[in-house]
Amino acid sequence: MEKIPEIYGSLVFNDNIMRDKLPNDIYKALRKTIKKGTHLELDVANAVAIAMKEWAVENGATHFTHWFQPMTGYTAEKHDSFIAPTDDGHVIMEFSGKELVKGEPDASSFPSGGIRATFEARGYTAWDPSSPAFIKDGTLYIPTAFCSYTGEALDKKTPLLRSMDALSKEATQILKLIGNTEVESVVTTVGPEQEYFLIDKDDYAKRRDLIFTGRTLLGAPSPKGQEMDDHYFGALRPRVAAYMHELDETLWKLGIPAKTKHNEVAPAQHELAPVFDTTNVAVDRNQLTMEIMKEVALKHDFVCLLHEKPFAGINGSGKHNNWSMSTNTGVNLLDPGKTPAENIQFLIFLTAIIKAVDEYSDMMRLSVASAGNDHRLGANEAPPAIISIFLGDELTAVIESIKNDTFFKNGDKVVMETGAAVIPHFTRDNTDRNRTSPFAFTGNKFEFRSLGSSASVATPNIVLNTAVADALSDFYEVLKDVPEDKLNEAIHTLIKETIIKHDRVIFNGNGYTDEWVKEAEKRGLYNLKSTPDVLPRFLDEKNVKLFTKHGIFTETEINSRYEILLENYSKTIHIEACTLKDMIYHDFFPAVVKYMDSLTKSVIGKKQISSMISTSAEEKMLETVSSQYEALYVAVGKLEEDIKAAEGMEEGLELAKFYHDPVFKGMEKVRQIADYIESFIPDEFLPYPTYSKILFYV
Ligand code: ADP
Ligand code: MG
Repeated sequence: MEKIPEIYGSLVFNDNIMRDKLPNDIYKALRKTIKKGTHLELDVANAVAIAMKEWAVENGATHFTHWFQPMTGYTAEKHDSFIAPTDDGHVIMEFSGKELVKGEPDASSFPSGGIRATFEARGYTAWDPSSPAFIKDGTLYIPTAFCSYTGEALDKKTPLLRSMDALSKEATQILKLIGNTEVESVVTTVGPEQEYFLIDKDDYAKRRDLIFTGRTLLGAPSPKGQEMDDHYFGALRPRVAAYMHELDETLWKLGIPAKTKHNEVAPAQHELAPVFDTTNVAVDRNQLTMEIMKEVALKHDFVCLLHEKPFAGINGSGKHNNWSMSTNTGVNLLDPGKTPAENIQFLIFLTAIIKAVDEYSDMMRLSVASAGNDHRLGANEAPPAIISIFLGDELTAVIESIKNDTFFKNGDKVVMETGAAVIPHFTRDNTDRNRTSPFAFTGNKFEFRSLGSSASVATPNIVLNTAVADALSDFYEVLKDVPEDKLNEAIHTLIKETIIKHDRVIFNGNGYTDEWVKEAEKRGLYNLKSTPDVLPRFLDEKNVKLFTKHGIFTETEINSRYEILLENYSKTIHIEACTLKDMIYHDFFPAVVKYMDSLTKSVIGKKQISSMISTSAEEKMLETVSSQYEALYVAVGKLEEDIKAAEGMEEGLELAKFYHDPVFKGMEKVRQIADYIESFIPDEFLPYPTYSKILFYV
């Protein structure tokens, strides 16, 4: 293998290459734009474009693309070649600043939720210089934001960048107020841990449910599941190890700092975690990682499944969004620090987060809602749909002591120290590990664990950034006119009052239990189980106010996103229901009939030989399968009727609810009967591989 430091980032237009290739003044201007978000002049853009093109062509690129993230949740790209024909019949390779900065894809077919009528199909892509360009398959990829002719965001990057700005502004303002004057900006950082399944390509190709929906809609459980916990962190099988090896190397070349890889709890399930990045870069890189995971899998005759619940009965896949805030001076604001003064700063940000999560827990739940993720949240898998915060014992004790005006004791020692009379002093505690909490403090960052494996991590971070920005902005309003000699006391009171008001959202126990569901209800926390339950919360007055106040979404953008999410849910269930119906009619019924036939033949054959030979086993089996077959026929008929009824309804919330119940519920009924029948049918009768075959034979 080539040396890692040499290949790392070799396909990225990174800072080193920029410094190398750009005239010094241009380099400085570009750095300023990247660091401070200042406007980039066209002459600078032109110079950068020339350098980028030179570097890209040297590295084998022939095309460039504005790479963006429309509301589909996937990325989009349209490739243009660098060639420009000359008069003498040759070509030169050209790329201008204008082409770098702005693109104009015909974008009429991307979801816009009614923002853009088809007659106004123009959409614009705008370069995001803070996320580095890279080369993939002979094309220079330029990360861009995507908006309509009239300036509305049509993508996930635009509001994400807006939310990062909002948080930076509010956090910096508070820091300055409490005397941390050298801070000029604050960025949010994200490290997304990505779970996935690897299955054999041939198995995949035989199952239309996997092909059309990304998950199995049928399938009796395998005799062995994940109950032995023997897959978790288990030794990598050679084929999987070879895959992970190539995946790492491919990601490293693209400057993606893939760090950890291991087998996960479910058979055939794995995880990859990178080192964290600035949020927008982390989001881009997670999108790219998911794409590369799928591409590399095919090279190894695997298919990589990113669906949240590819298989019933074993764990699904999620994404853990490790999140923190960091100053331009390099301080992690969620690090408790070593001195009481640092603790004050930490406690302000901690309580702002507690307030933010409590006030906007519905939006946090919404930010991870999808048909796929409904199988995890609020179903039998965790984290639960109830959004709560885990702080761990020590931090909870600190919070309690502030709330009750008691001294914070660490063992017997009173660790209140001089310098901050009212703020307890404590240091970082790394010991707590809670795996059931949706939002857990893990030493110097929060881990938002409710994300689905296939979705972009942009939306949850938009919500998190904005909600925290809002809490900080409220804090600023309270503190801004307090005279300096009263500031410490005012901060203490603010922290205390905030804790008293919002500590209902803190829960350190086991989030999987029924007791927690009851307790959460008593505390007045949301338990929004399904996507149609949660989506209307987007239009709630407080949430509209939140996003418009901080300039993240306009009301038009909120309405359009709401519509897109609803439509997406309905369409997903529609495709699943149609696929299930098809599989039952085209794959499953023929297999059942064939099996019943063989049982019948056996009965008749035996009887022909002698009436003394018992046929009761076959007859009983036939009876069971046959009666279940009848039941299945009725259930799938009902499903078919419900699909038709849904197709006759208008788009909207009612339709989404109808898809949830009866359509989705009807699918579960069909599946229950079919899986029971499958447990009788020999593998060879089924035209597609069983769970056992898919999960245990790689
Ligand atoms: P664990 O989840 O087992 O505690 P780590 O603490 O190593 O694992 O981190 C998991 C993920 O969190 C990694 O992607 C890591 O880069 C990321 N991470 C660590 N520190 C931060 C931070 N300050 N901001 C955002 N993500 C972080
Ligand atoms: Mg983790």
